[in-house]
Amino acid sequence: MQTFQQYIGGAFEDAGETFESLDPATGAAWAQMPAASPADAGRAVTAAEAAFFSPEWAGMSATQRGKLLLRLADLVAENAPRLAELETRDTGKIIRETSAQIAYVAEYYRYYAGLADKIEGAHLPIDKPDMEVWLRREPVGVVAAIVPWNSQLFLSAVKIGPALAAGCTVVLKASEEGPAPMLEFARIFDQAGFPPGVLNVITGGPEAGAALTSHAKVAHVAFTGGPETARHIVRNSAENLASTSLELGGKSPFIVFDDADLESAVNAQVSGIFAATGQSCVAGSRLVIQKGIKDAFLARLKKKAEAVVIGAPQDMATEVGPLCTLKQRDHALRLIQTSLQAGAKLVTGGAAVEGEGFYFPPTILDCSEAPEAPCLSREFFGPVLSVVSFETEAEALEIANNTAFGLASGVFTRNLTRAHRMIRGIRAGIVWVNTYRAVSPIAPFGGHGLSGHGREGGLQAALDYTKVKAVWLRTSDDPIPDPFVMR
Ligand code: NAD
Repeated sequence: MQTFQQYIGGAFEDAGETFESLDPATGAAWAQMPAASPADAGRAVTAAEAAFFSPEWAGMSATQRGKLLLRLADLVAENAPRLAELETRDTGKIIRETSAQIAYVAEYYRYYAGLADKIEGAHLPIDKPDMEVWLRREPVGVVAAIVPWNSQLFLSAVKIGPALAAGCTVVLKASEEGPAPMLEFARIFDQAGFPPGVLNVITGGPEAGAALTSHAKVAHVAFTGGPETARHIVRNSAENLASTSLELGGKSPFIVFDDADLESAVNAQVSGIFAATGQSCVAGSRLVIQKGIKDAFLARLKKKAEAVVIGAPQDMATEVGPLCTLKQRDHALRLIQTSLQAGAKLVTGGAAVEGEGFYFPPTILDCSEAPEAPCLSREFFGPVLSVVSFETEAEALEIANNTAFGLASGVFTRNLTRAHRMIRGIRAGIVWVNTYRAVSPIAPFGGHGLSGHGREGGLQAALDYTKVKAVWLRTSDDPIPDPFVMR
């Protein structure tokens, strides 16, 4: 069995306790992972704080920080195949996706490398005589980054990249499910030449997470995960009053009008809900379809869903691999059951794939006659699509916005003016028009409501890891007049 170590203060070490990580394709344990204790989390924060104030890091020019991030980007690109193999092994995400996604993760580090020395302050045209006032942008301090198991190299890059570009230091807690790629990433990071303690990587569950996010020396918590855990994070941050950014789940509408290119929309819907076995926060999990084309669309979609190649995630031909955990599969089965009881109709799938591993087939539930079915409001985080139909544009918008989430959305139409009206009306952080599931380091990513707050990716994300210091400098040589008047 392989063993992995945690990374604290620039050193690799065993934790006092370990846990077994399961291969989702077989259900069997394949590796021993370090289980960080609350004390380990505390040591990691202490190491990050020491690095934050160290002359090696605090005194480093922003340009040099950028060069280190560039080196890291090159190392990630070079090691992408190994990282992809590990992510596939430990989380079951198919190799077809992990190899492409991790190669692209390098671009996120490149983007933030370039931004490091473009984080500028400002000079203010102040309304007082003999005064120069300017703003310095300074790093917020130690960042606690918490990621879930899906797309973790990507979800950590959108935290580590901007945080280090801004001059912060980071303690990253990988998920207790499938942490292998993050622990291996620590080894790659170690080769890039950053001072010790600039990044620390631990893993473990809620206890380590709670100790980390409530630690007095943590200034910001960047969290990706589910809304329920996010509530814990916010409560934890009541201890240290750290700022938080929360990237949570979704129930994103995928809206198709009858003038859309059907073949293109069907393919995008397959990508939106069945790619990554549906374990994607931006999954287009609610198909909102115009009545006149519903039957034709569903017939095509069903055919494609049933032709999907389910198999070993290591096989390049596989299109849908296992779910990451047994818990995920049980959750999907339960939610399908209660939705069928509420009147949803099964179009395809619905039962776990027999045999070893945590496999679940592409599933479609028609909820046109069951608007209250729980599958329309609750996240599956699996390959399960819920379908509702509409007649008018206004109705489509109302259904799309009838959710407590607000992360992503898709609109398929050839009507330009309608597309613009939908873009304006949809309440979500991302609107994709005639495409779906496209991301880039240049574009911000995030949502509102139960999907969280804050944005990752883009220029603003780097600024969010800074705080503004206002500097006042009096330029007069005269003595300060009347000291009892505020100036
Ligand atoms: P989760 O919320 O169960 O766990 C996320 C992380 O939080 C894990 O590392 C876990 O150990 C940690 N954690 C758990 N309890 C904690 C506590 N009390 N204090 C601190 N940390 C704690 O999520 P999951 O099941 O691993 O991932 C699935 C969820 O993540 C879904 O809801 C999905 O939509 C969401 N997600 C969102 C995005 C996005 O960018 N918006 C991306 C991917 C996944």
